[in-house]
Amino acid sequence: MDLAIRKGTVVTAAGTFQADIGVQGAQVMLLGREVPAADRELDAAGLYVLPGGIDVHTHLGRLRPFQGVDDFRTGTRAAAAGGVTTICEYVIHPRDTSLASQVEQWLAQGREQSIVDFGLHLHIGDPRPEVLNEMPALVEAGYTSFKVFMNRNFDSRVREYLTALERAGALGALTCIHCEDESIIGHLTDNLLGQGKTDVRYFAQSRPAFSEAVATARAVAFAEATGAPVYIVHLSSAAALEVTRRARARGLPVYVETRPIYLYLTRERFDQPGKEGNKYVGYPPLRDSEDVSALWDGLRNGDIQTVATDHVGLSFAPKAEPPDFSRIPAGMSNLETLVPMLYSEGVAKGRISLPRFVELIATNPARLFGMFPRKGTIAIGSDADLVLFDPSVQVTIQAEQMHSQADYDVYEGFTVQGWPKVVLSRGQVIFQDGRVVGRPGQGQFIPRERFGGL
Ligand code: MN
Repeated sequence: MDLAIRKGTVVTAAGTFQADIGVQGAQVMLLGREVPAADRELDAAGLYVLPGGIDVHTHLGRLRPFQGVDDFRTGTRAAAAGGVTTICEYVIHPRDTSLASQVEQWLAQGREQSIVDFGLHLHIGDPRPEVLNEMPALVEAGYTSFKVFMNRNFDSRVREYLTALERAGALGALTCIHCEDESIIGHLTDNLLGQGKTDVRYFAQSRPAFSEAVATARAVAFAEATGAPVYIVHLSSAAALEVTRRARARGLPVYVETRPIYLYLTRERFDQPGKEGNKYVGYPPLRDSEDVSALWDGLRNGDIQTVATDHVGLSFAPKAEPPDFSRIPAGMSNLETLVPMLYSEGVAKGRISLPRFVELIATNPARLFGMFPRKGTIAIGSDADLVLFDPSVQVTIQAEQMHSQADYDVYEGFTVQGWPKVVLSRGQVIFQDGRVVGRPGQGQFIPRERFGGL
């Protein structure tokens, strides 16, 4: 054995057990009580051994002009430090470009800079026939998920997007959909700005929960019309969750992701003095405490299947500058805190079980996005992507301690119970005792299998 991890409590979606782990090369080779002496030994007494976190929603690739401060190098440094060993990054597709040319750029950046393994989802920003004709070869090459934004450049091209969705389903790909109603948001934003209501405290009013719910209902109907599975990204409200709950109860292939900010923060953040509220702008906006509790219920009872970050490394200056709320760059840094905060707020506070936590941050994302059982669990033959997690430490979030290049953190001052101590990617230590030791370029592109349900 190259590596033995001893005395840890192993956690999978199926349960918790005491076992030593033997790693040979990149894979878990032994799991049990009779792991022979290895070249390297790690003591996991008092620690949980978790499958590496999988964040299926990141924005690290560069498209100019772009105000973000993280790239694959700094973004995956934050990932490694937070126990995320695989990301799925969105390739952005501008009009008048081909999907293949965009994929080439993202793949090159990822291969050169990524510390952790990565898959790529393909945004379709321009669903003209030549672009849709690229889909079969790309699915074949392991890009088995697509992305559609309903909140921009959508309403004038719905029929083309329906064709894209149907094509994706027929090819065995999952389509990720940003559900906010473009027309309602445009109308409300114009009205607010026309009344001089430009401050960020009006932002949440410009993108209400009902605009998310109606778009989600439409996405459900699209799944019904085309037979294609849909994955609702960063669902934020009780109203939208109810729409997906009913669809799933009817057996429709509808899957739901939520995002950390909707679990820990509410819209009161936008009411803070000065430009402070601008820090929290992302699409959809933060909601009310009733929405927060509905999302936690959804995590607990299975109505929500994944938690992913939508990480965009943004610093405060570009978010503070714009003259009105509609022009504030959307998104924020989130990657490093994904796993420890869900443990702390979820497991340590008794809202979700330990196996459910692992299911949400590793097993379900791996299954939905064609990486299971290579990723997302601890089993013989799986990649040795492992997190030795110390549930006894407390960490107070401070932006300056975080590995993102962003100069602020939305959870500044939160005290978090539990943090990764050692993180392994395919058997190699990439983070240990506060230091990222993984190298840019060490991460591999993961071609993904076709969609096979949960
Ligand atoms: Mn996103």
